[in-house]
Amino acid sequence: MKGYAMLKIGEAGWIEKERPACGPLDAIIKPLALSPCTSDVHTVWEGAIGDRHNMILGHEGCGVVDEVGSLVKDFKKGDRIMVAAITPDWGSIEAQAGFGQHSGGMLAGWKFSNFKDGVFGEYFHVNEADANLAHLPDSISPEEACMLSDMVPTGFHGVELADVQFGDTVLVIGIGPVGLMAVAGTALRGASRIICVGTRKKCREVATSYGATDFIGYKDGPIDEQVMKLTDGQGVDKVVIAGGTVETFEPAVKCLKSGGRIGSVNYLGSGTYVTIPRIEWGCGMANKNICGGLMPGGRRRLEKLGSLVSSGKLDVKKLITHRFKGFEHVEEALLLMKDKPADLIKPVVVL
Ligand code: NDP
Ligand code: ZN
Repeated sequence: MKGYAMLKIGEAGWIEKERPACGPLDAIIKPLALSPCTSDVHTVWEGAIGDRHNMILGHEGCGVVDEVGSLVKDFKKGDRIMVAAITPDWGSIEAQAGFGQHSGGMLAGWKFSNFKDGVFGEYFHVNEADANLAHLPDSISPEEACMLSDMVPTGFHGVELADVQFGDTVLVIGIGPVGLMAVAGTALRGASRIICVGTRKKCREVATSYGATDFIGYKDGPIDEQVMKLTDGQGVDKVVIAGGTVETFEPAVKCLKSGGRIGSVNYLGSGTYVTIPRIEWGCGMANKNICGGLMPGGRRRLEKLGSLVSSGKLDVKKLITHRFKGFEHVEEALLLMKDKPADLIKPVVVL
C-alpha cells in the first residue's frame, strides 16, 4: 500500500509498505478523511521526537473498518469509525492509574506516527479496537470527525488541566486550532472573560465566534503586562497554553492569581528548561499550579466529545479552512501546515 511518510529528519515523501497485520483485538481501517497536524510538522522538520525512517505520518483521521481481529466485539467490516490520536493499551498499569496516554511509558499511548505507522496510509492499524474506536454517526461528517481525533480533545484537555470554572477569567495563549478548541471548551465551561493571545486575523475571527472577549499580541510587549492592564491589575483565574515556547510559562505565572491553574497542552519542541519566575510563583508557595498533559484517548471520550458536535453545541467546521479531495493531496495539505499561510487553520483531505 501507499503511505506518506517521514523519510528522515527534514524529509517526507511517498513510500510503499505492507498493509498492516491485524491482531485479535485490533482493526484495520481504510481512511475516509485525514488531517495533518502541527505535531506532524514538529516531527518531520524539527525532529521533535527524534529520528524516524520511513514511518507513515499522521494521527488525525476517520475511516471505514476493513478488518477486525477475532476478539473484537463491537465493530465489523464496513462500519464507519472515529479514532483519537492517542490509542492507549487499556490493560496497562498506567491506564489503571487513569493515565492511558502514558501506557507503556511516558507519552507511549501516542502510537500513530510515533511508535508505529500513522494514518496517512491506504490502510492503518488501530490497537484494542473496542476501546479505541467509536462509531461515526451520520450526524458527524468525516471532516468533522478528523477534528475529533486531536484538536477537540487536546484543546479541551487544556481546559480540563486548567480546571476552568463558571465565571472565571481565562487567558488562552495560542489560538491555532488547538487554542481555538481551548477557547470553545472554556466558553462551554462558563468562563466570563476569555483573553486570547494570537495575531492571525482569521484565528481571531473564529476565536470571537467561539467566545473570546479580548485579544493581545505576543509581539506587542510582554503578555503578562498586557493582561494586567486589561484586568485592572487583577490578573486571571486560569491560563490555557496552546502555543509559545519554554519561556511562555513566565508571563503565564506572572499574570495568574494565587490559587490559579495553568493547563498546558503545548508541545515544547526545543529548550532544556522551562522558565518559572520565582518571585511571582510566591517563592514556590503561591498555589499557582502548573499542569501539562497529553490528551487522553479512548472510545468513551470520543463518543462524549462527538455528542457535542452531533447535538450542535460545538461547531468544528469553523476550524477547516482548506479542503482537498483525493489521498494524493495529503502531501500538499501537510506542506500547507508547515508553511502556515495566514488564512489557514486546518486543512482536511477527504478521500
Ligand atoms: P499553531 O502553530 O497553529 O498555533 C500556535 C499559536 O500560538 C498561534 O496562535 C500563535 O500565534 C501562537 N504563538 C506562537 N508563538 C507564540 C509565542 N512566542 N507566544 C505566545 N503565543 C505564540 O499550533 P496548533 O494550534 O496546531 O497546536 C498548538 C500546540 O499544541 C503545538 O505545539 C502542537 O504541537 C501542540 N499539540 C499538543 C497535543 C497534546 O496532546 N498535548 C496534541 C496536538 C498538538 P500567531 O499565529 O499569531 O503566530
Ligand atoms: Zn495532532
